[in-house]
Amino acid sequence: MANFRKGTEEIKRTANNSGVRKFTPNIFWLAGDVHTVLFVTPAGDIPKVRLHQAVRIPSDKSERGYKTDNFLCRKDPSMVDISGGDCVLCDHIGHDAAERFVALAIELEPIKSGKEVTGFTVKKNRVKREDGTEADYPQWGMVIQGAKNFFSSLAAYDEAKGDITKVPFEIQREGEGVSTKYHFFPEKGTPLPEEEIQELLDSIPDLESLLEDMGSDEKYSTLEDVEPGSQPSFGDKGNKPTTSATATSSRDSAFNAIRQKVEAGVESY
Ligand SMILES: [Zn+2]
Repeated sequence: MANFRKGTEEIKRTANNSGVRKFTPNIFWLAGDVHTVLFVTPAGDIPKVRLHQAVRIPSDKSERGYKTDNFLCRKDPSMVDISGGDCVLCDHIGHDAAERFVALAIELEPIKSGKEVTGFTVKKNRVKREDGTEADYPQWGMVIQGAKNFFSSLAAYDEAKGDITKVPFEIQREGEGVSTKYHFFPEKGTPLPEEEIQELLDSIPDLESLLEDMGSDEKYSTLEDVEPGSQPSFGDKGNKPTTSATATSSRDSAFNAIRQKVEAGVESY
């Protein structure tokens, strides 16, 4: 008899994984923002990817006339087998790609007694559905950041104190543009809502499949109405894709490379 996959966990998994997500959740910081996050992706598994961030897609539903979305560049080493190295965003539309590190994380809501954090719950976001009813969604998503002012701090923590997925970090952003600084405060010793976290982890897709979706044909088909020259230029200038041979190994060992720099005291953070 066939070994069918069944049960409520499987239903949840399928519900979350079927088809291409229209919206990939992100956790990000504006100047002055403070978010407490628990990283799901261990430091050694954090991939470096070539991304098109905040691509403007025409939309009648938005007052600005467009919505924004993130895409995995089809020149990313992981995509080259499928794309042959062609990327409509780079080559036709003219959107700048940037190399970023991506980790999956859950946002936590600290329970405070004065300044002291005594516990956490998973942060919820109240969303109004189209039928007018409201629902609370647990906050999880991709943290997309560079090495120098963000992930090098986590690499340093991982090296000195241990696994970054075992301790929540309160992360504060100060400033904007080139003067942006992130401050990391590990909340060690405060108990985590283990059951609530596990339940969420069982229902969310893994990082690899999220990234695959971001580079898929289905996802790229949403770019049909995007005109060449319609995108603002703000990516990393002169950030040419590396050749696939070196890039494949650099994707695997990218985080170790940061770590080595941190150890050597090269990276300032
Ligand atoms: Zn591209």
